[in-house]
This record gives sequence, structure tokens and C-alpha cells, in this order.
Amino acid sequence: MVKDRWIAKVVILGGGTAGWMTAAALSHTFGRAVEVVLVESDAIGTVGVGEATIPPIRTFHQMIGIDEAEFIRATGATFKLGIEFRGWLNESSTYFHPFGAYGVERDIGYFFQYWLRLKEKGQVSDFSEFSLCTLAARNNVFAPASERPGDPLQHLQSAYHFDAGRYVTYLKGVCLARGVSHKIGDMLAAERDSENGHVTGLKLKSGELVSGDLFIDCSGMRAMLLGQALGVDYEDWSRWLPMNRACAVPCEQKLALTPYTISTARPFGWQWRIPLQHRVGNGVVYSNEFTTDEAAERSLLDGLEGEPLALINRIRFTAGRRKTPWCKNVVAIGLASGFLEPLESTSIHFIQSSIQRLIRYFPDAGFAPVCAQAFNKEATREIENVRDFLILHYHATERDDSELWRYVKAMQIPDSLQERIELFRERGQLNLAAEELFQSTSWHAVLLGQGIRPRTYMPTMALQDDAMLANAYGNLERNFKKIVSRLPDHAAYIKEHRLTSTMENR
Ligand SMILES: Cc1cc2nc3c(=O)[nH]c(=O)nc-3n(C[C@H](O)[C@H](O)[C@H](O)COP(=O)(O)OP(=O)(O)OC[C@H]3O[C@@H](n4cnc5c(N)ncnc54)[C@H](O)[C@@H]3O)c2cc1C
Repeated sequence: MVKDRWIAKVVILGGGTAGWMTAAALSHTFGRAVEVVLVESDAIGTVGVGEATIPPIRTFHQMIGIDEAEFIRATGATFKLGIEFRGWLNESSTYFHPFGAYGVERDIGYFFQYWLRLKEKGQVSDFSEFSLCTLAARNNVFAPASERPGDPLQHLQSAYHFDAGRYVTYLKGVCLARGVSHKIGDMLAAERDSENGHVTGLKLKSGELVSGDLFIDCSGMRAMLLGQALGVDYEDWSRWLPMNRACAVPCEQKLALTPYTISTARPFGWQWRIPLQHRVGNGVVYSNEFTTDEAAERSLLDGLEGEPLALINRIRFTAGRRKTPWCKNVVAIGLASGFLEPLESTSIHFIQSSIQRLIRYFPDAGFAPVCAQAFNKEATREIENVRDFLILHYHATERDDSELWRYVKAMQIPDSLQERIELFRERGQLNLAAEELFQSTSWHAVLLGQGIRPRTYMPTMALQDDAMLANAYGNLERNFKKIVSRLPDHAAYIKEHRLTSTMENR
């Protein structure tokens, strides 16, 4: 790239998780070749939640040069092997969505199909018995995934729960050490180029103008640049994902330090439990169409396992996305680009994938429209696929104990999801694209957990030697049980590996 077409200065608006993750990644990728300035208001807070993640966060941390042990100690993080869903199919049901694959690697392609065949013949245990993550979670034990090919421990994939406030503080320290400039100030308006409409600077309340070449909108749901300055529309998906409010509060930890998130369905929505080293994060997610704020808050406080450690944080949102997260010379990352809802902990992942995409399509000063088009196309596909996965949790339910569950059960779902459910229901197959975030492990866990049973399997499965298969599955099950019985307790693992939080409680 010729030097005079180089993007010399990137301005990030917003100092929440999205802003600092973006600053950390850009400063790591470009070093001092691109100046990075982060502007944040000290009057407008961050959303203050977002504490459960999914496994690709590990890759992101490696990509931006973060030391895992240092990060865990700084943020009071714990490990997460998946999510336990309570009460989603019916009021007494429980199932686990594991991160690591079912079975063993060499069988993955047909592992589920073989299992369907054996299940029909009554020769195999429940599918969950073939997930190491599920078995480890049931026993509150943890070990990191092995990197040795063929080792079953490869499938012990994990992510983290971390303290959102501490994560921001930690990343900020990393960024400042790398030369990112930090400005405190309230942006009042964007200055625009009269010819092409590009943003040229942020006008702050102090009167200062912060100019730049590329602007990253990390201003949260306000979307100050993409939404307010450039007027990019918001596509509302609340007809499928009707949750529009949440209230959250941390509490003392009284129950076990589980290596997983718990998501408990309630008549009006659902409740999360996220265990950290120094406290437990709790929240209820609901819709004001189906309950009142007072009832939701009462349910939250009544369900706490220990004393609350802060005041309730109340948040409003609308499930959906900005139609073009990259418009002119503004790219929205984080809540400014959209939000589905907290179920399945995908929003921090969208930050990560947006950053990776931005680096891949990083523009020069000519801002060739194809870069923004490619970025927007991939972003759209990614969020639509995840949207369908979330809708599945609500729609495929037996619950009819409240107006909410009757609504989601009866609602018209996107054709893409309808087709996927029908194929699975017919013969247990999944029409997944390689780039989808949630692959067969996740879809198998949730489709089965939500009570969808395939009518049959692929015809070629009938050609297999059933006795040999039953034997192999039996051996695998025994082997998995043995492996899990030798793993350390989750809390003990953190202690023994010197990962204990370095900060005071709260
Ligand atoms: C209830 C709930 C639960 C969630 N749980 C999870 C979860 O478990 N896992 C997950 O992955 N994600 C979760 N998320 C999403 C996650 O919280 C966000 O993706 C993440 O925190 C990023 O937020 P953000 O940085 O985009 O916005 P924010 O945290 O809102 O930060 C916005 C920043 O912009 C600044 N700003 C705004 N306006 C101006 C202005 N005019 N001038 C200057 N600065 C300004 C603010 O000061 C702030 O620094 C959850 C979200 C909600 C609502």
C-alpha cells in the first residue's frame, strides 16, 4: 500500500468491552504504524454486564498477545465448559450445551448418525454420556483441552466467565502500555465531509475536535456515529426474540464454583448464573410485554444464592442489528452494531469477529466500497445464523405455562430455521455452512435438549455392523467416565495453577 493512502489515525468512540478490545487488537496488529485514539465519556457508563464467553475468545487473546494466567488473575475469571439449560423444554427438564464435540475425532462425521441407529435398537446410552465437557461439568471438574492429536481430552473445549469491569481495566492497561491514546470527553456531534459524507472528527463537549481517518463506533446501544450521525437503520428482530429488558446484580457465592453457566427458564423469560472467583453474576432477561419490571426484579432477588453485592443494574434493548455495520468511514463494533440477547453468550464473540473482519478488510484512504460490502455481508450472515440458533431455544418448547411460552411456541420462525429443524426431525442431519459459529455439537445439544427427535437416520447407517458399533460406544462411554473421574475439581484447578484472583472482592 502506498504510504500516502495509508490510514494514519483510527478514532474509537467508547470505552466499554468493545472499545478496549478493538484498541488492543489494532495496537497489537499495527504497532505504532497507525495511531489509535480512544474517546470515552466519564458521564455515560458502560453496560456493565457481558461476563460469559465462548471458546474462540482464547484465539482472540492469543491473537492480541494476552497472557492467559495474567488475564485470569486480573479479572477473577473461571472456566466455562458450556451452559446448563434448566426448564427450557418443560419446567423439570435439564440439558447441557457443551463446547467440545461429542464422541472422538475420527468418528465425528457420523457419530450422531451411528448413535441414532444404536438408539433405535436400545443398544446405547443417552447422547450426553458421550460428551466429555458435559460429564466434567456434571462433576464440577476441569482441565484444559489437550493439543495432542487423538487425545480425547482435545474435546474439553472451554471459555471463561470474567468480571466485565475488571476486563475493561485490564485491557485498558494493555492498550496504554502499547501507546493507545485515551481521551475522556462527551461526544456531542460528528463533523462530516461536505462532499462524501465521511466523518472527519468528533466534536467533544469541551470544544475539542478529535479528527481521524477511520472511526470505530463502540458507543454501545446509542450508536452515536453509525446510528445517530450516519442514520443507518436498525433491523428489529423482536418478533422472534421478544426479550427486551434485563436486570442484573452480583451476589456472594454460596454454591459450588461450577465450570459452566446456568440458564434457568422462568414463566416470563430466563435467569443466568455466572460464577466468578470473587462473586456470582446474576440476571433476569424478560420482556415488558409479558411481565412487569417489579416482578422480574423480585424474581431476581428471590433467586439469589447469597447477599447482593451491588444495586440492580437495569438495561433495555431491542433484539436486532444495524443494517450495514460499516458505512462510509465508520465501522460499528459491539452493541453499536446490534444485539440479540444474552442467551448463548455471543455478543463478545461478535466484537471479536468484527475486529478480525476489520483487520482482514482494513481499508486504505480510498475506502474502496468492496471492503465495506464484504465486511457487511459476512457480518449479516454471522448474526442471522446465530439469531436462528437462539430462536430455536424458545420456539422448540413444550412449555405453555405463560403467555410468553405460548407466544414463542406458536410464532412463525425464519424459513432458514424451519428448514433446518425439518431436516433434523426427518433424519438427524444438519445443513450447516462451514463458517457458522455454532456447529453440529451445539445444534445436536439444543435440538435434542429441546425435545426434537429424528424420525430416522441416513439409510447407509443400516449397513453398519451394529454389534461392533455398540461395543465401540460402550468402550467409549467407560473410557470417558474414567477420564473424568481423574480430573481435578474446578476450584482446586484454579488454586493449584496459581490462577487465583489478584484483586480484592467486588
Ligand atoms: C443483559 C445483558 C447481558 C449480557 N451478557 C453477555 C454475556 O454473557 N456474554 C457476552 O458475550 N455478551 C453479553 N452481553 C453483551 C455485552 O455486554 C456487550 O457486548 C459488551 O459489554 C460490549 O458493550 P459495548 O462496549 O459495545 O458498549 P458499552 O459497554 O455500553 O460501552 C459504551 C461506551 O461508549 C461510551 N459512550 C457512549 N456515548 C458516548 C458519547 N456521546 N461520548 C463519549 N463516549 C460515549 C460510554 O461511555 C462507554 O464507554 C450482554 C448484554 C446485555 C444487555
